[in-house]
Amino acid sequence: MLRKFISYYKPHIWLLILDLVCALLISAADLVYPMVTRDLINNVIPQGNTRLIFIIGGALFIIYFIRMIMEYIVGYYGHLLGVKMEYDMRKELFSHIMDLSFDFFDSNRTGHIMSRVVNDLNEISEMAHHGPEDLLISTIKIIGAFILLCTINIRLTFIIFTIVPFMLYFMVTYNFKLEKTFRKMREKLADVNAGLENSISGIRVVKSFTNEDKERVKFDRGNEMFKEARGQAVKQIGIFDSGTNFLSNLTIVITIVAGGYYVSAGMINSGDLVAYLIYISQFLQPLNTFVRFTEMFQQGMAGFKRFQELMSIEPTIVDKPGAIELNDIKGDVEFDDVSFSYDGDKKVLSGINLKVRAGETVAIVGPSGAGKTTMCSLIPRFYDIDSGTIRIDGIDIRDITLNSLRKNIGIVQQDVFLFPGSIKENISYGYPEATDEDIIEAARLANAHDFIMEMPYGYDTYIGERGVKLSGGQKQRISIARMFLKNPKILILDEATSSLDTLSEAVIQESIERLAEDRTTFIIAHRLATIRNARRIIVLTENGIEEEGSHAELISRKGLYYELYNSQFESLLTH
Ligand code: ADP
Ligand code: MG
Repeated sequence: MLRKFISYYKPHIWLLILDLVCALLISAADLVYPMVTRDLINNVIPQGNTRLIFIIGGALFIIYFIRMIMEYIVGYYGHLLGVKMEYDMRKELFSHIMDLSFDFFDSNRTGHIMSRVVNDLNEISEMAHHGPEDLLISTIKIIGAFILLCTINIRLTFIIFTIVPFMLYFMVTYNFKLEKTFRKMREKLADVNAGLENSISGIRVVKSFTNEDKERVKFDRGNEMFKEARGQAVKQIGIFDSGTNFLSNLTIVITIVAGGYYVSAGMINSGDLVAYLIYISQFLQPLNTFVRFTEMFQQGMAGFKRFQELMSIEPTIVDKPGAIELNDIKGDVEFDDVSFSYDGDKKVLSGINLKVRAGETVAIVGPSGAGKTTMCSLIPRFYDIDSGTIRIDGIDIRDITLNSLRKNIGIVQQDVFLFPGSIKENISYGYPEATDEDIIEAARLANAHDFIMEMPYGYDTYIGERGVKLSGGQKQRISIARMFLKNPKILILDEATSSLDTLSEAVIQESIERLAEDRTTFIIAHRLATIRNARRIIVLTENGIEEEGSHAELISRKGLYYELYNSQFESLLTH
């Protein structure tokens, strides 16, 4: 997996090299100056050579000037590297998600997918640019400072390094604890977010049951747990930081005492002691970075693992090799002994046989859960069937490219989804090349033109979350206008008018009838009154197609349709 991760550096390899070279130079510059200081104190100052002091000062200035440029490069291009890698991965991930089939979206919650696209990639990006840089700088500083400490005085180094193992032990154990607390904190925060999302999207239910107080209590429970986890984290950070600093300072105290003793005993020079003190802090500080790096690495890798998991999910419905492009279709649709289950086990549909001629309208009725929606979603191959064949114009739909198949099929659903944007953009969604005339024509056919013209900016009125709100019937008419532009040969109307009041239903009914002209149309209807005129009605139950015929035929048969119709009629009378 690490190798896979490294492959994402490839397009930006020069940026990485630049970053690392500069990081290397920075560490080198940091290691040089204590040595210079040592020489200055030990040799130059006692000689009274003021000219050399200025030369050394000048040289140090140049070194630090270059170091400034390097640091800018590391700060800017190093982060840019992370930003670019994150961009690549996010782009790749979104593009991949767009390709996935419905079974994926059925079994993954939106919030869950979003957290991957946003949070995980953030963590990966952190690791991507800080990882190599921190690792290189810390390694060089630790090794370099250690060697230099030994060359200055090996005995002093030996004394001081008795404390380093304790320090490491403390840092590693506390870091481990911190990691656990942080993980808990993230989980609790996710709970808080989920609670917020649920309560807000369900606000209508909450208010109609006057359950606001219960929601408050429920939310507060999550919020409180997050607070506690956070409190714990803050406390541990406090212990970690103060403890680590204390141990560092202790090292310095020991250095001063032992070094001071050596200086006064004439065993080392005072310049040595100064250089020594600086190297000690140069040794200790990257130790901290090193320990923290392990955490960053773990988090980044965990994020990358989740990223990879998503990337490795394959779309289940794809073009068959050699699939044909089907452009001008007539619109014959045939279900030939079709069986289907969502999970490969429990059959939702079995042994469905149905032949629909081009241009014909078929109404599908039946109890809820019978599989009406499922049956229609098989035609555009939202799901693939288990056995049997679905044919369009006599061709198995699995032999047709998905794009050309779906271009020929239009679906109008009960819940209309409109994108934030203008009315015009929403009508021409999928047909950006449509002219204004095309759009107006489509809106007229959908009985939408008049209400659109009454909007503050007509067709340019912004709709969606921060724009004008539309009624259910208005939304539905926009989606029907979309369909007139799409102009598919096969049309599926899935309870398109079920959630509307009778008045809006009548307006929409008219535009739907216009839309259905010359197209093969499947109408799923909840209210049987809306399909009474259909010449062909199919009654679907869990056992398959139970009855078929015109309204009059089915009524006279006194079967399931007759019962359904009467029960609806009765409930209408009693209301
Ligand atoms: P209808 O439209 O006739 O009310 P559906 O086609 O929506 O019925 O559902 C038929 C059956 O399939 C139901 O038992 C339902 O629970 C199940 N079902 C529907 N959609 C899915 C899905 N995406 N995943 C799994 N099961 C589903
Ligand atoms: Mg349905």
